[in-house]
Amino acid sequence: MQRTDIARALLAAARTAALPEELVRPPVPVRPARLPNPNGCRWCGLDAYGHMTEWKPPIGWHRWEPPTSAQRKARMLARRARRTAY
Ligand SMILES: [Zn+2]
Repeated sequence: MQRTDIARALLAAARTAALPEELVRPPVPVRPARLPNPNGCRWCGLDAYGHMTEWKPPIGWHRWEPPTSAQRKARMLARRARRTAY
């Protein structure tokens, strides 16, 4: 269960119990996980601009490489899912 799911469940429980939302809302806003841009590096997700020689397992040292079509699609779908989560 993700943090956003927990927060949503708590808010739903507060509404059914008619509690004020301030009682169950987390004290700090739940920040969404950082998602790589669709055109981010194939290996590490960083944008081409600013990508130098980066190290990331399992590939190790590498330069920016274009992502696969499947990666692009998965990243776009993840972005859309996060946009429409609330
Ligand atoms: Zn990279």
